[in-house]
This record gives sequence, structure tokens and C-alpha cells, in this order.
Amino acid sequence: MPIHRLIEGHHHFVDTFAHAQSEYLRQLASVGQSPDTLIVSCSDSRVIPELITGASPGHLFVVRNVGNMIPPYATKNMTVGSAFEYAIKVLGVQHIVVLGHYQCGAMAALRGLFGPGGQREQGTLGDSPLVTWLKYAEASYDEAVNRGVLDTAAWLDTLVEENVLQQLANAIEYPVVRDAVERGALKLHAWTYALDATRLHFFDPNQRRFVASDDAVSRTLTGEVSIPEIEAEDNVK
Ligand SMILES: [Zn+2]
Repeated sequence: MPIHRLIEGHHHFVDTFAHAQSEYLRQLASVGQSPDTLIVSCSDSRVIPELITGASPGHLFVVRNVGNMIPPYATKNMTVGSAFEYAIKVLGVQHIVVLGHYQCGAMAALRGLFGPGGQREQGTLGDSPLVTWLKYAEASYDEAVNRGVLDTAAWLDTLVEENVLQQLANAIEYPVVRDAVERGALKLHAWTYALDATRLHFFDPNQRRFVASDDAVSRTLTGEVSIPEIEAEDNVK
């Protein structure tokens, strides 16, 4: 979409949504935000958390990055950790969702980066910004390799799902997250989004797999996972 279309789109937004919701938006501006949910989503232009959940301004605190990553706590990369601290301590969010999506370019790139069979020559990976960032998904890739997933046709879908669970395993390394979950003040959720079917999939700990939200039973799922369930998945090697 050309840039001038975005500016026209902004004027349309001012004349329609912002005009119709002016009282609500003024209240948000004066009182402040109090979203219930923090979503960590991919930067992919086809995945818009607010659009696919019907959320309005003030409803979601969103972190978007390449591959919906949460850098491991030990790396001291606090790009997502800073959002955790603010969202939990200041905003009091009650839910953190890691939202992956099928056909994710970041996950597809891992195979080229780390090698189709998991063989890699560390020295050849390089240290470009993108490569450095994608290394935060190395554990996701290794789990997929160890489960033999990369030999299957559905390897990319499974890697996407493994990565969501791995990023939640990274999330609970952050004391602010773990403490809030253990106090019962915060719930963690594993979601994926199917671009073609336009459906969210929620992790079902009972079946240990992601389930599409397309029937009455699956519509009761929220993708909530407990710390023991995340740790159990993280230990599948
Ligand atoms: Zn993506």
C-alpha cells in the first residue's frame, strides 16, 4: 500500500472511528490505559492482533517482533522483559499471550540458518542483526530437530508451534512473570494463527497440541498453559 494511501486512511479514521468513539477515546487519553492482556506477536503484516481478536484501543498491550520472540532472560536482552515489567507491575495485565502464526518467514529462515538436519557450523552463521535475533529461536529449532519434525511435511507448522511454547518457557525465566503466575495474578496462553483459514488455534494441554477454534468444543479453549505444562513441553527433547 503506497504511503499516501496510509495518510488518506488516517483521515478516514479521524472522520469515522475516532469521531464515533470520541468520548471513549477522550476518556482513555485522560484516565489512562488498563488493558487486561499483553500479546507478543510476530511483526508479519498479515497478523494483526487487534483485528483478529476484535480488540479496540485500550484493550491490548502489544509487543511485536520478528518471530514473536522472548529473548532468554540470561541474554540480558530486555526488549520484551521491559514490556513484561511495565505491563505486570504498572498496568496489572492478567494474561500474557504468545501469538505465533503458520507460514512464518522467521521460522522458515531457521532451517536455512541452522541446517536442515540440525547440523550447523556456528562460525558460518554470521552476526547480522537478523541472524543475531533469530538465534533466540535456536532452542525451538533444536526441539523440532530432536523430535524428528523436520523430516515431515508439516515441519514448519510444528516448528511454529514449538516456538510459541519455547517462548513461553523463556517468559517464565523472568522473575516478574513467574512471580505473578505463582501468585495467581497472571495466566499464560499459547496461540497460533492460520492465515489461510483466518482461525486462531489454542494449545490444549490435555491433547498436547494446538486446536483450531472452529467448533463448539474448541471455542471453550483459551490456550492457557501452566508453568508445569510449559516446563513439560520444554523438556520434550
Ligand atoms: Zn512471522
